[in-house]
Amino acid sequence: MSKRCPTCGKTSDSIQFYGQFCKNCVEKNIYEELPNSAEVILCKNCGKIRLQGKFVKDSGQNMQEVLQSAFKNYKIILVDYNTDDSTAILSFGKEKTGEIIPVEKKIELRFTKTLCENCSRRAGSYYEAVMQLRGNKERMERFIDRVNNYFERRGEFIAKVKEADNGYDVYLSNKKLASAYISSHNLETVNSYTLYGVKHGKKVYRHTYSIRM
Ligand SMILES: [Zn+2]
Ligand SMILES: [Zn+2]
Repeated sequence: MSKRCPTCGKTSDSIQFYGQFCKNCVEKNIYEELPNSAEVILCKNCGKIRLQGKFVKDSGQNMQEVLQSAFKNYKIILVDYNTDDSTAILSFGKEKTGEIIPVEKKIELRFTKTLCENCSRRAGSYYEAVMQLRGNKERMERFIDRVNNYFERRGEFIAKVKEADNGYDVYLSNKKLASAYISSHNLETVNSYTLYGVKHGKKVYRHTYSIRM
């Protein structure tokens, strides 16, 4: 037996139905309830976006997850997005009568610009360790390049490089990584520690590694 849509009068012979209503009317109802915009937190320096408290690369997959967590009542699929005009086309899957009904809508992405944790540490020239290099200039410069790659690949950084007598002082963002680099490369170092503060009741030291090369 065919059904007749109470809203528009179409029958189930000519169009798909969801429950008592035709597909068009159901989709129209869903569309009218859909949001017009979403807030996205963006690092103005590196362009990463915030997903559940962490800054991640601005990829389609991550943007979809950001929007999914903004719109928990729908099953979100990111169809397309355009950072030039700050819009996204989403498929909002809404559950009705046991089925997920997808409805597409173009929404506005409202970017809130901030600095991610890593960029704000960089901006403040944050550092935890210093490698004091002394010796052959070329060797030191190649060494600094390798340390830089090693740190950047792991999301850390060289805060600054200062020229010193017969060498360079290399300021590093992470002392665990500095120490891992030194032990994995079997470097001979003379170590010293300077207290630079107290964090959560614990003394915090900056490590200095003197390295001859
Ligand atoms: Zn209808
Ligand atoms: Zn950043």
